[in-house]
Amino acid sequence: MISAIIVAAGSGVRAGFRENKVLRELNGLPVLSYSLSAFAPLADEMLVACREEDKTEVNALLRPYPNARTVRGGKTRGESVCSALKEAAGDVVLIHDAARPFVTDKIIRDCIASVEAFGSGVCALPSTDTAVLAQNGEVKSVPPRDEVFTVQTPQGFYRATLLTAYERALAEGAEFTDDGGLYSKYVGSPRLFLGDRANKKLTFAEDFLPAERVGFGVDTHAFYDGDEGAPLVGFITLGGVRIPSDRPLKAHSDGDVLVHALMDALLSAAGLRDIGCYFPDTDEKFRNADSMKLLAEVSRLVREAGYSVANASVSILAETPRLSPHIEEMKRNLSAALNLTENAVGIAAGTNEKLGYIGEGKGITCYATVLLK
Ligand code: MG
Repeated sequence: MISAIIVAAGSGVRAGFRENKVLRELNGLPVLSYSLSAFAPLADEMLVACREEDKTEVNALLRPYPNARTVRGGKTRGESVCSALKEAAGDVVLIHDAARPFVTDKIIRDCIASVEAFGSGVCALPSTDTAVLAQNGEVKSVPPRDEVFTVQTPQGFYRATLLTAYERALAEGAEFTDDGGLYSKYVGSPRLFLGDRANKKLTFAEDFLPAERVGFGVDTHAFYDGDEGAPLVGFITLGGVRIPSDRPLKAHSDGDVLVHALMDALLSAAGLRDIGCYFPDTDEKFRNADSMKLLAEVSRLVREAGYSVANASVSILAETPRLSPHIEEMKRNLSAALNLTENAVGIAAGTNEKLGYIGEGKGITCYATVLLK
């Protein structure tokens, strides 16, 4: 029989939340619910260790799972796990932190298989960074990278063995951040099995942002019409590229209609105000502004909001000038400004089949969509 012990007794202090972080919503569902639905098909019972003040809310989330119940969380993670171990009925226990909502079916099965084969199973990932041991800001030693792993949950053990170890640890006042560490002190070396990068622990406020957000932006600029005292420039600027044109575009800035649409898409995806708000065309500061510099600023605002750009897709509608010879250079400029590979920026250009203001050559319109991660 398999018992899953889901530790949900944390507070959310490191994320800066007032409430327990595992009760917060992530993409529309409370964080704890992800672990519940992952373990439910594979565990015979689920015990959720939670604080007394969260019990009502947690019980509401357990309603769809008749094999789940709450157990009293302790002052420390160790106390919570220990009291759950006493109440669990399974001979095998899988201990999992509710703050890791992306645990997969495969990880849980691999954990169970490891306990059955080796008596323990600790989910771990080989470190891709070099780790060092340091004291007082000085490196004391550098363990070989192929011997460094970061430990995740679930971690599986035989219940009786782990409970004995916990009772000894609590009697000695020893504290451990994970069960594998405790097991290795009181029982023996636990067996590692391969985790998944996606199985990350939600720790900071930005970890709770929606994983992906889409944004859309449009901009139109009119051409000068000859009799209006147009400036004597022989080009328009699109995607940071100067493209020969007998008529310039009317604008307060450099009139880069493509970059303006893209900036609005980025700001909108991040839930921010539009470019008119950040770079008003009534402000002399932005007269003849280089839109690529404004794009770099928008890119910074998006990063500050906690996102990075996954890809951008732009469509230009213009009767003239001919744009296809310039598309590759635009792609290079935009991908550099957004810190993307060139294949993450798509630019399409077409005419409007002589229809409407675009077709009559009176102006250019650009549409942009972006995906933020
Ligand atoms: Mg504009």
